[in-house]
Amino acid sequence: MKSSNLACTGLLLALCVTSAGARPIPTQQPTPGQARDAGAPKTESVPPLAFGVSGLTADNLPKVKESLAALESQVFVCPGCKAEGALAGSCSACKVALEPRTVKLLKTAEPSVENASIRITPDAGRTVRYSDLERTLRQHLVQIDSSKFPVAGTAQLVVRGATDADVSPLEEALLQAKLFDEVEGVYEPATGEIRLAVRAGKTPPPLSKVEAVLEGTGIAPRFADVLWAPRPLKS
Ligand SMILES: [Zn+2]
Repeated sequence: MKSSNLACTGLLLALCVTSAGARPIPTQQPTPGQARDAGAPKTESVPPLAFGVSGLTADNLPKVKESLAALESQVFVCPGCKAEGALAGSCSACKVALEPRTVKLLKTAEPSVENASIRITPDAGRTVRYSDLERTLRQHLVQIDSSKFPVAGTAQLVVRGATDADVSPLEEALLQAKLFDEVEGVYEPATGEIRLAVRAGKTPPPLSKVEAVLEGTGIAPRFADVLWAPRPLKS
């Protein structure tokens, strides 16, 4: 029988490897060449995330807050109409190449020593990656407690080192464990990743449980990341 501590360690190792490589993870939305209109945002913001940590003290709190506030992500902007996309491509309206631009990731970051927790509010249109949070906090010797990190809302679980044939068993394992209301996996040959789009119900599962279920299948040795991407608004 596998203890949850072991499972956590496995996850942290996987994240370490991921962070060290510093490989940008392409997001699924929006697709290349489909930049958003500048005027009216067509995506929802990622909802605030709150999670438990260890190692947060009155001493490192200011630095932790500063580092989280300084987190950046890259977007691609049309020089003409200022439409913005998450991936390189061209503006469908102006037919010109989108230009890369670095933008702030979070609107707010509120660490609390008293509650041993951190609450973040992503800026509109930004994609949040667990690995970015984990790496940033680790610089200040703060560890995310994966048993107190709810995989809330609509997220994508990223699994590396698996194949197309592993998609169904992974989906099945998550559904049988009843961790999420919806699970849909896609294998991306270009990156060798499986992306499992999940939607949590009223009680989102902690990351440690998700990791334990994926590890339990024996086919997901590299559960690598979780990301929350803004979803297109229904028109
Ligand atoms: Zn344009």
